[in-house]
Amino acid sequence: MRKKIIIGNWKMNKTPSEVKKFFDEFKNKKIEFRSNMIYGIAAPSCDLYYAVNERPNDNFVISSQDISKHLSGAYTGEISALMLKEMGVNYAIVGHSERRTYHKETDSDINAKAKTALENGIVPIICVGETLQEYESGISKQVVEKQVKECVKDLDLSKIVIAYEPVWAIGTGKTATNDYAQEMCKFIRSLTSNETLIQYGGSVTPESIDELLNQPDVDGALVGGASLKVDSFISLIEKK
Ligand code: PEP
Repeated sequence: MRKKIIIGNWKMNKTPSEVKKFFDEFKNKKIEFRSNMIYGIAAPSCDLYYAVNERPNDNFVISSQDISKHLSGAYTGEISALMLKEMGVNYAIVGHSERRTYHKETDSDINAKAKTALENGIVPIICVGETLQEYESGISKQVVEKQVKECVKDLDLSKIVIAYEPVWAIGTGKTATNDYAQEMCKFIRSLTSNETLIQYGGSVTPESIDELLNQPDVDGALVGGASLKVDSFISLIEKK
């Protein structure tokens, strides 16, 4: 049985002292976790060291929000798999739509980043998803098929996570219906494998997550806004 994987994407939020505050508050709560679940947060680069050291236990996954395709060298501003690994970071988001848009990342860049991550023991969370215009033109599957095929080229499909995030649902409060999320995740499964973990992302809330997780091909969620506050984050990962 595939595990569920729920990761909070903090984006460019929280200073190191706010990370400590989050975990201090988290450690004071009594939580009954969902079963068979991987959970954690993706922190900004400058917070990763604090997050690894302040997290309540080793089961709490700390992910980066990006990773370089290079291992070292003259790449100002980038962070390598070796650095992440040594800090205790085991997951890396790659190809988030905000990086595709603002940093012009291509599917081939994303594939190279995911490859470097995997080769160094870091699980890549590969983001794909169509824009509003593509959705309205009825070409979502064509767009996502191209992204998935290029991004997962030559990767071990049993060792990666794919986050299906329709761009029109990210940070907009406009979540996809459960049926649509299921249809797209099932489609992505047909392009990958039965072992691939496939998340949905896009305005997921504590209220919407249970029905989403009930969909047979939705293996979890990548959650932005609703992961920033401790109580809201806990409502995503606790057993109802
Ligand atoms: C995200 O950052 O990947 C995301 C899905 O954000 P939100 O949940 O805020 O839409």
